[in-house]
Amino acid sequence: MKYFIGNWKMFGVPKSINILNKINYFYSKDKNRKKYRVIVTPPYTLIETYSKYFKKKNIFIGSQNCYQKDLFSSDTAAVSPYMLKRVGAKYTLVGHSDNRKEGDTNEMLKDKVKYALKNNLKVVFCIGENEKEKKNNKTSFILKNQITKVLEKNFNSNNIIVAYEPIWSIGTGKIPTKLDLEKTVLKIKKVLKEIFKKKSPTVLYGGSVDGKNVKIFKEINAIDGFLIGGASKSSKKFIDIIKNYYR
Ligand code: PEP
Repeated sequence: MKYFIGNWKMFGVPKSINILNKINYFYSKDKNRKKYRVIVTPPYTLIETYSKYFKKKNIFIGSQNCYQKDLFSSDTAAVSPYMLKRVGAKYTLVGHSDNRKEGDTNEMLKDKVKYALKNNLKVVFCIGENEKEKKNNKTSFILKNQITKVLEKNFNSNNIIVAYEPIWSIGTGKIPTKLDLEKTVLKIKKVLKEIFKKKSPTVLYGGSVDGKNVKIFKEINAIDGFLIGGASKSSKKFIDIIKNYYR
């Protein structure tokens, strides 16, 4: 199963559902549809409406983040996995570089993953090195650290997807070379296999994916799908990525 996950970030109002309707229509007619799943993470404000609307359709709705506590608390503006589950979210991103930049620590991320899983949300755990770390050949070390400091062997690995998103690639148009990316994804899988003793962990790539460069990425078998930011806000661009992946 491949994944095409759209991360809308701070984008969208109720009528933006039109974008998802077009993607849903494309999916319903696509001969390859059994091979992949479409997930979109709109902002918190739209999760309930969109989840209800797409309940019996083909798009899964997720959250871009969740708070590191279960149930309710006195933390202003925080939204717990429990609350997300009850408005219909099926997935949540955890550890997006935007949130790491704002102060998410490994300890916080571990609790986010733990409570998300406890509330039956599937987790898309984001990792990635910055430009300086890449230049200093620290990528493998950084990624291993990000994984092993957060993911525990007793977590349900069937509900964890890892998204490799090099920070220097997000929103910049820059992408890793095919060789580098393949090596990195295989290394990530090796680390995950060591933790979970699971045969085939799911690892996505994210960072400036578009309808053109997806043709390069599709040659890398180890990549199980994509986390797509900018291009997910346009139905045409998102559909082009899927079409060109299977062309
Ligand atoms: C992201 O923010 O997760 C992302 C991958 O963004 P973009 O596709 O715009 O690089």
